[in-house]
Amino acid sequence: MTNFDPSNAIQDFLVFGEFGDVNPSITDSSTFTFMSPDRMEELFEHEIEGCFLYSRHWNPTNKFLSDALARMEDSEAAQSKASGMAAISSTIIQICNSGDEVISSRTIYGGTYALFKNFLPRLGIETHFVDLGNLDLVRSLINDKTRAIYCESVTNPLLEVSDIPALASIAEEYGIKLIVDNTFSPMILSPIRLGADIVVHSLTKYINGTSDCVAGAVCASDDFIHQLTDINSGASMLFGAVLDSTRAASILKNLHSLHLRMRQHSSNALFLAENFRELGLKVYYPGLPDHPQHELLKSLMNPGYGYGGMIAIDVGSLERANQLMTRMQQEKVGYLAVSLGYFKTLFSSPGHSTSSEIPVEERVKMGLSDGLVRFSVGLDNDIEHTMERIKRCLEDTGSI
Ligand SMILES: *Cc1c(COP(=O)(O)O)cnc(C)c1O
Repeated sequence: MTNFDPSNAIQDFLVFGEFGDVNPSITDSSTFTFMSPDRMEELFEHEIEGCFLYSRHWNPTNKFLSDALARMEDSEAAQSKASGMAAISSTIIQICNSGDEVISSRTIYGGTYALFKNFLPRLGIETHFVDLGNLDLVRSLINDKTRAIYCESVTNPLLEVSDIPALASIAEEYGIKLIVDNTFSPMILSPIRLGADIVVHSLTKYINGTSDCVAGAVCASDDFIHQLTDINSGASMLFGAVLDSTRAASILKNLHSLHLRMRQHSSNALFLAENFRELGLKVYYPGLPDHPQHELLKSLMNPGYGYGGMIAIDVGSLERANQLMTRMQQEKVGYLAVSLGYFKTLFSSPGHSTSSEIPVEERVKMGLSDGLVRFSVGLDNDIEHTMERIKRCLEDTGSI
């Protein structure tokens, strides 16, 4: 079990006393004063612990959130970012030069796929999209230009589980970085402990949990976070996708309940997955014993948080998927919306939304069918009642 307790995430940093605020004060400043010009000059040369210069570089509120996330992921350091894509793009650009290559899972978030496939080639960075379960193939693609292996801990939308220790040992053998997007499984998986070098997050999803903002984070070694934030050469500093401090403060407050929310998302999702299975539906959920990576996930996960809150079902055709989602919204099961990690259930048809960046041929290759409906299962207090409603919708649309 991870010994990180989100409800105590910042206790060690707070000042106690008559005016000791239980939540850290929000930095309402873009710039910070110096007592002397010499000190300012010094900060341009190297970072000084506890000394702030300008909010695109660091500010106290972002530092609180970043330090809490580093503790969650057990990394030496972290940096909060303006979005998950900002975390991913700055990480890749920091690591790769023109001419370099990345080996990526072929089942990744649509935005990441579009970045790797359509944009990075403009910078001379090439990506090989492969089934990372085929470790021999991964090995065979590594050459002296390869800089990183990129995967999602649990993939979107088919919920395949990456073998992080196996990929980490290949990355280590060849002296390249393993980057893991842990957006789907915070608390459940701790990729750094399993050997990953860098963890990226979209805080937009579970970690914030209220679908009211977009944010991201990079968790990595002190050295890598310093590289990212270097005033003269850091991708974070120079591309400038900084998180606003008022948002950093609200995300930090939501982080404190993450452990409870993950448990509830997971137990609700397991309940729905088992019921969907009983109804004879094709279900993708890593908590079901016949999921191809069920045993792998069990061996990697921190016990106590379940198997995650995401489920996909295949109802056979796009038309039926659309009818089902429309009915479920009418029945107040949840909302027809992209994204995940909200307290209400969200559903969408990945092939025609979040994975639409991926060309049809590739979607077929990775088993992403037109009739897929992805659920981000909410925090419903009475999941049996929710299941009854969903069952009615499945019946009405001929899905079962
Ligand atoms: C949403 C998401 C992202 C992108 O994050 P943003 O905060 O929307 O920029 C990256 N990876 C995964 C797995 C996601 O679900």
